[in-house]
Formats: sequence, structure tokens, C-alpha cells
Amino acid sequence: MWKIKGIAASAGIAIGEIMHMQEAVHDFCRQVDASQTPAEKERFYSAQQAAEKELEILQERTAATMGEQQAEVFAAHKLMVTDPSFVEVVLNHLDNQASAEAAVEDAANEIAAMFAGLDSEYMQERAADIKDIGKRLVRILQGGTAEVNYTGILAAQDLLPSDTAALDLNCVSGFITALGGKTSHSSILARAAGIPAVVGVGSALEKLKNGDTVVVDGHVGEVLVNPEEDVLSDYRLRIKNEQERAALLASVGHLPSETTDGHHIELACNIGTPGDMEKVIAAGAEGVGLFRTEFLFLDKTSVPTEEEQVESYKAVLAAMPDKKIVIRTLDAGGDKQLPFIGGLPEANPALGLRAIRLCMVYQDVFKTQLRALLRASVAGNLHIMFPMIATVDELLNAKALLKEAAEELTQEGVPFKSDVAVGIMVEVPAAAAIADILAEEVDFFSIGTNDLVQYTMAADRMNEHVAYLSDYFQPPVVRLIGNVAKAAKKAGKWVGMCGEMAGDPLATPLLVGLGLTELSMNGRAVPVVKHRIRQLDIKQTEKWADDILGLRTAADIKKRLEEIASAYEI
Ligand code: PEP
Ligand code: MG
Repeated sequence: MWKIKGIAASAGIAIGEIMHMQEAVHDFCRQVDASQTPAEKERFYSAQQAAEKELEILQERTAATMGEQQAEVFAAHKLMVTDPSFVEVVLNHLDNQASAEAAVEDAANEIAAMFAGLDSEYMQERAADIKDIGKRLVRILQGGTAEVNYTGILAAQDLLPSDTAALDLNCVSGFITALGGKTSHSSILARAAGIPAVVGVGSALEKLKNGDTVVVDGHVGEVLVNPEEDVLSDYRLRIKNEQERAALLASVGHLPSETTDGHHIELACNIGTPGDMEKVIAAGAEGVGLFRTEFLFLDKTSVPTEEEQVESYKAVLAAMPDKKIVIRTLDAGGDKQLPFIGGLPEANPALGLRAIRLCMVYQDVFKTQLRALLRASVAGNLHIMFPMIATVDELLNAKALLKEAAEELTQEGVPFKSDVAVGIMVEVPAAAAIADILAEEVDFFSIGTNDLVQYTMAADRMNEHVAYLSDYFQPPVVRLIGNVAKAAKKAGKWVGMCGEMAGDPLATPLLVGLGLTELSMNGRAVPVVKHRIRQLDIKQTEKWADDILGLRTAADIKKRLEEIASAYEI
């Protein structure tokens, strides 16, 4: 057995035999006599019409099988086939005595190369679209049909949208491609169709032979080639478990997240970009519990403008206008350095100028974000959340700046909601210790266990040598969560969690029992946690939580939670 590493593009596991996709043979004359140019132009125009018809059929078929959204790519292709700038390049080649096939292929390659050279992943992916159009036109010009019949694990250089749409997806169990990234159409379509896919394996693709047995592990982006029987049977068992689990979870997807005695626990998602909202809705979540806005800043060379930010925040709010959307202000510094602010050498960056501390130094950047957030508030139910709060003063200073931003907008006559909820992340033990005091100043708390564990246990979350301490089931962490929940309840404020612990179904009975009423996690965890919640009784969880608060070690707590979990279906 040997392994190929790639990009995990579509989750799931598939076992099957490799079948390489045949690339079209480009066996055509490239140059024609000048007298033939008018006829070649006619051939191009009729191929263009045929392509439009094909794309219309593909659009309808994909809409019916995979939904309108997946079909949009073909509507875009239809526009690109007749796009004047594409046609102009084709006609130039034709005027230079190229055959219709050569003119189309060269034009598509030139435009694709231009897209590929642009500094945007989105535009680079569009290079695949224009190449796809070129391939389609060449095939039509050569009299080829669109039908393909592939079975098993399909290996291809790249799966262009029309390739995937022409496949019988019931016969293909997995995809492996040499090119492509998470946002390429092949990955998007694979995810939509629920087909495990590993993309971007590069030249390793050529080492795969037709008939090789492979395991495509779309969870981790790995392909196991010709594995031994014991490995295969392990993966067969995993597939069986996944299928059983998927069937069960599909049945809870859009049911309410309610305990058996009718208590509603709000399940939300953590997101990094507005593009993630599609997944939030598909997961059956009720909103966003953490939008990590630093991702809007991380791949930039300068601070995103107020306008750019307003657009991003509005896009998230408008995707679920009546649901709670918690947007966290910039959490830069530490392990998320931005090139344009901070970046001073620090001996202990995690204990240094991070998050709210950095924002209070770069107040112009912070104010711009606060203005953008307030301006976007008109689009939905915005909750603003400050990260890394450790003292009341930090919170009051941040709130004062928010008030200043609001006053500026009022003076400028810019509309915004005046009753936006304001909360903090509890991720520093200092905040957990004074939760009762902070509760007087906030509308809500959201516990960030990733940092709360790091700071409580004095164990760097990136350092594998102290990973044994980085455990949210450590009693001091559990007790701090209990403290925060108690303080919030007393003050009549809600408390949620957006650290990784929130998405761990083992922790669900404990968190519900401690009094958390909102849990925010990645989309995949939502149905799992919801399924757990739907089997819980609040009074019972409160007893369990009380009992767990008295346990001595993380191992004891996990053991107790495993006993509790063993009573559930999954
Ligand atoms: C946390 O610390 O738990 C958290 C959610 O924030 P981040 O992981 O972005 O630091
Ligand atoms: Mg954090």
C-alpha cells in the first residue's frame, strides 16, 4: 500500500477501482487556407449555438438533480460562450487563418492563462470555466457527443463542470483530481452530490493505474492505493458506520433543537467568511454564534475599507435576516498576525498585544470596523462580540468606542439599529472570575474554550508537548464554565459557547446541565449535537453537571460523560 496526499475537497470515504477519464484527442488541422476562413467562421458560429443548447440542457438537468444553485455554473457558461471578449479573440485567430478548433482552443487557453495569473483564488478558478468552454466547442466542432460512462473512482487532471454534469453520479463513488482546490467547481459539485473527493494531488495522479483499488478519504484528503485486506475492512466498517449515522442524522436535520422536556438549546455555527452561510443553512443551524472577522483581514495587504466590511457583514446578516448573528470584532495578533497592524516582536504573543488589546492600540482600525458593523445592523439581527476581554475597563473602553461610532453615524445621518446586543467572549480566566461584574455590562457571554483552556492550564494551544493539558474536560475549565453560567443566569443574561467544546457531543449533557442555552460549532457537528439534545432531560442534565463539578480529573469527567453517552443511540 502507498498513500497520496491531496486536499480534502468533499468529506466521506469511498472504496473502488480507479478509472482514468479520457482526455479529448486534439487531432485537428490548425491552419487553413485564407479562402476557407469564412467557412471556418460559420463552423464556429454553429458550434457556438450547439454549445448554448447543450448548456441549457445541462443547466435544466443539474437543476433537477442537484438544485438551482449548482446549475448556475452552466448559465454562466452560456454567457461566456457568447461573451464579446472571448468571441473577439476567437475571430482574431480565425482572421489569421486558424481552423475553428485551433481558434477556439487558443482563445480559451489565452483567456484562462490571464485569469490564472490574477491574484485571486476566485478568478483562478474561473480559468477552469473558460477552458471547459473551449473543450466543449472543440468537441462539438469535431462532431463528438457529450455522453460519458464512468464507474468507480474517477481520476482526472481536473473535472470541469460539464464533465461532472455529464457523469452518472450513481456509478461514480469518488473523485481524485491532479488540479483544483476546495473552491473549484469539481469540489463544489462533489460536495453537493455527497461524493468523497480528494483534489490537487498533482503528478501523483499519473502513478495511479486503471484497476488499482483505492480508498478515497475525503475527510483528511488522502488516497490509499492498493491497501491490504485489513485496512480495507477497517474502511468498509467506517463507511457502514457513516451511512448509518448519516441516515439517522438526516432525520433530525431540521427538527427543533429541544430537550425531551421542551427546553430550547440554540444551535448556531462558527463561520469565517460570508460564503460559509450556505453551509450554516444546510446544517439546520439557527444562526451564527461566531463570525471570526479576522479572516476578512488576513489575506489582505491593507485594512479592508469600511464599505468592503459593510458589504461582508450585511451579506451574513441578510442570509438569515431573522436569526441571531454574532459577529466578533477583530481578533488579530497572537497566532493571527496581520501585516498592517501590530507585528511587533513579542516573547509571548499569546499573552501579548492580541484581539481587544491590539484594537485599543489601533483605534482607527477598530472604529472603522465598529462603524461598518453598525451600518450593517439594518440588514438583520446583529450581536457584536468583543474578544479576549479580561477586565471591566477593557469592556467599557470598547463600548465607549462603539458609542462614539454610533454618534458619528447619527451625525452623518447614516441609518443603523440603536439596540444592537453587545457581548463578550469569555476566554480569559480573569473574565470568568469576574463574570458577575462583567454580566452587568453585557447582553450575553460566549465562552471560547480554545483560549480558555490555553490560559487556564497555562498550556500553549499550538504546543504539542503540553497537549495533555489542553483538554476542555480539565476540572478547572469545567468549573470556570459553571461559574460563568451561574453569573449570567443570576444577571438574566444568556450564555453560549463558541469554542470547540460546543461541537463535541460528549460534552453536550454537561454544557446543557451547566445552563448554557446556545452552542456554536462547525456545520457538520450541528445534527450530531442536535440529536443528543433531543434525547436529554434538563433536570437530569443538571444533576449530572452537579456531580461532574465534583470530579477530580479530566479522565474522571470523560469517563462519566462516556457512561452517560452510552445510553444514547449515537
Ligand atoms: C476560542 O478561543 O474558543 C475561540 C472560539 O476563539 P478562537 O478559536 O478564534 O481563538
Ligand atoms: Mg479565542
